[in-house]
Amino acid sequence: MSSIKITVMHTGHIHIYPKRLQDGYSFYKAFGITTSKEDWVWLPVSSYLIEHPKGNILFDTGWGRSISPNGVFDGTAQIKAFASTLLYKLNQGYVELGKTAKEQLDKKGIKPEDIDYVILSHLDCDHTQGLKDLAGVKNVLVSREEYSFSRRINLINQIRYHSRWIRGMPVRFFDWNCSGGPFHKSYDLFGDNSIQLISLPGHSPGHLGIKIKDRAGKYVLLYGDAAHNSRSWQLAQPTGIIVDRKKQIETLKWIREESINPYCIESIGNHDPDVHPHVINL
Ligand SMILES: [Zn+2]
Repeated sequence: MSSIKITVMHTGHIHIYPKRLQDGYSFYKAFGITTSKEDWVWLPVSSYLIEHPKGNILFDTGWGRSISPNGVFDGTAQIKAFASTLLYKLNQGYVELGKTAKEQLDKKGIKPEDIDYVILSHLDCDHTQGLKDLAGVKNVLVSREEYSFSRRINLINQIRYHSRWIRGMPVRFFDWNCSGGPFHKSYDLFGDNSIQLISLPGHSPGHLGIKIKDRAGKYVLLYGDAAHNSRSWQLAQPTGIIVDRKKQIETLKWIREESINPYCIESIGNHDPDVHPHVINL
């Protein structure tokens, strides 16, 4: 019987201001621009390989090798990779040798050409910067809302997004074709309800999560940065960088309902220190 295998990978770490996990009402406050780096914490950056009978999917790419050429924190390399000193001041990361998504796929004997879909939850650097290491993937799916938002020219977007992370890659858009999720916008990737891309706005306008379901109805929810950890959705309390607080609250309430549903096997966020690399078989 066919089955779905989900490999939760850690593709490096990100250094952030802890308040970003508590109260994100101000972009600048959440980014911790004026705070001492000594208070910051390192969190994992996750990427997920979904081996499905109808195709291989990578959900988010994590960091690429260029930010951390020797597997350790390297500010100079990161500024070069970001082409932005300011973004480096706000987001610092490293990825150990052998731990980029590309390197972990290599170890499994999976080449970029074997990846049918890279799906990006959103376009922040820690989710997209590893994409360039994966030249050869067949399709890169991004929501139209996210792409359009990232192209808007304003100060924050100029710091936050860089088109170079996706430029030259086979980026495709899709039309919502189902009504799942808090805003009734979802996309049934294979037409059999096994992989649903779900609109989860708040952190960014076009943020999406993935619900992976087996034939018995059991499912795994990967919610990316729609919530920063389980506490955030348990309390339905907005956290972190927020572009739409009202929508984020609706998103968090939906994640809570889905996560406590007895059919939910696991509900996983992208930067949760309590989540360790593991494999889920559906
Ligand atoms: Zn993130």
